[in-house]
Amino acid sequence: MADVGLSGVEKRYGDTRALGPVDVDVRDGEFFTLVGPSGCGKTTTLRLVAGFEEPTAGEVTIGGRSMAGVPPEERDVGVVPQQYALFPHMDVRENVGYALKFREPPGGDAEARIDELLDLVGLTGLGDRDPEDLSGGQRQRVALARALAPSPDLLLLDEPMSALDARLRERLRREVRSIQRELGVTTVYVTHDQEEALAISDRVAVMHDGRVEQVGTPREVYDAPATRFAAAFVGENNLFDGEVVERVSTDGVTAAADGGGSERSSFARVRLDSLDATVTVAHDGAVGEQVAFSVRPESFALDSGSGPPPTNRVEGRLRDTEFLGTATRLTLDCDGYTLVVRVGADATPEGRVAVSFPPEAARPL
Ligand code: ATP
Repeated sequence: MADVGLSGVEKRYGDTRALGPVDVDVRDGEFFTLVGPSGCGKTTTLRLVAGFEEPTAGEVTIGGRSMAGVPPEERDVGVVPQQYALFPHMDVRENVGYALKFREPPGGDAEARIDELLDLVGLTGLGDRDPEDLSGGQRQRVALARALAPSPDLLLLDEPMSALDARLRERLRREVRSIQRELGVTTVYVTHDQEEALAISDRVAVMHDGRVEQVGTPREVYDAPATRFAAAFVGENNLFDGEVVERVSTDGVTAAADGGGSERSSFARVRLDSLDATVTVAHDGAVGEQVAFSVRPESFALDSGSGPPPTNRVEGRLRDTEFLGTATRLTLDCDGYTLVVRVGADATPEGRVAVSFPPEAARPL
């Protein structure tokens, strides 16, 4: 078993708190991603798990065992760093086989193990090449093979694709995911790229300012961001603040103010701070309460103007149109508030544009 636990883990450098306290549990066999902007503590977390650093407080466990005082080479962990990871004076075979000098390979035969790994990462026949004669993607494949050579219980990858171009990054991340599934190795992956995190992971931890703001499956984090930061960082979002002015039932009828034992509806009329509008949203805030919620760009629909006005109609001046192939992204200036919406690819609105969103699309923050 190679589940990983961080409980109450903190890392300080002098007066600087780089991390924590954080509590994270990575399950055995899981592909777990730490995602967040530069400086949020992702690499520090990974280094604490690898054993390159010791926590200032709290405990790191691997397979249920405390790692306090256990050096990196005794942790059974393979690490793929960001770049420049290969030994330049060794060819590909020597790079991949490096760790096997210190540790018996699975099966006992180092040469056979190296062949197996080169096949696994798609580098069959390139064993004699020097690293400088490889492309960026090939170098990262060698780094991955080298980390996997001793069959570690745990694989740690620190932004392994960051030096590659977008297309290659996408291809390689699919390969990494497929290799991870095949081997079933518990993997902790670090990236600042939220799209990559959503695409590749079983679960993600959204990090900000040395803290973990949310842990969940990609879908959970996207559909129900737990904090303002998570809502804004993972995918695009529109954030709104406002005051609840009324509770309403689902059919739009004003709900009993104090209930008197009756059921509370889960919808609220909210007067927005940033826009001259009052909208109906799925929110259980009480009348008078200041609330915040988010609405994804794709939750909006264009209002053609024919028929009765839709719920939650918002109007703005079109500032920018981007054709994305599968959708069109519109930036609207709504009296100073910038609203981003995604509508059908064939939409070509101009001038003043009206859009609307259903109450259920609002995610309370
Ligand atoms: P990036 O994506 O830029 O690598 P990160 O999320 O991995 O960022 P860390 O490298 O973990 O972030 O750094 C977290 C914080 O700790 C940062 O503010 C950084 O400046 C600080 N920090 C990291 N290592 C040290 C160190 N050795 N000494 C002092 N401060 C450090």
